[in-house]
Amino acid sequence: MVEGGSPSGNLNKRTLRGSLWLPSLETVQVCHVELQRSQFFLFLIRLDEELAAQAQGAGCPCGGVLHRANYPRKPRGCPSAALRDAFSSRLSFCCSRCRRRTTSMSVRFLGRRVYLGLVVVLCSARHAGQNTAAARLCEALAVPLRTLTRWRRWWREDFMQTPLWQAMCARFMPPVSAQGLPGELLARFAGDGGQALARLLCFLAPITVRAATLPEGR
Ligand SMILES: [Zn+2]
Repeated sequence: MVEGGSPSGNLNKRTLRGSLWLPSLETVQVCHVELQRSQFFLFLIRLDEELAAQAQGAGCPCGGVLHRANYPRKPRGCPSAALRDAFSSRLSFCCSRCRRRTTSMSVRFLGRRVYLGLVVVLCSARHAGQNTAAARLCEALAVPLRTLTRWRRWWREDFMQTPLWQAMCARFMPPVSAQGLPGELLARFAGDGGQALARLLCFLAPITVRAATLPEGR
């Protein structure tokens, strides 16, 4: 197991634990993060734990208490065996009363894909002017071409139709083109490679749960 030190950045606890479903992008401060370093991966674990605590705190709609019932995962794209262990579960809960599942949002996993969310972002964006660290990562992982093709199609077609993108795309000016996803979208988030990526993963977190609901006006 990985024993993390302090998270590599500060989170606005009020925002994460409050009523907002989306972590405030402006409050995610990641310092000196580099993609290849375990620090960044540990930071993503902390973010997922924050999101899980938020979901657990909200409880089940039936009024029951949520107990931890994680899904096992065997993710691809982890830079070390220790991190793979730390990434081996998708945080989820089961209601003590009605047994209904509640799975919290995640910055680590993008849906049910076996590759980490950050890999899906970086490798999909490889030909969209991304940095050399991303290119190296994707080469090292040897993601099959058919998988890359599927991911790129997902960004161009399915992602565009998500409630998240439908609600948020107008906030990006000039508009982000379908062909430019996700590289062009990543480029709109401030910070160095790691900071921008962490912010994008937070932005995408609502689509990692099935019933993503958007508050009015967002
Ligand atoms: Zn319940």
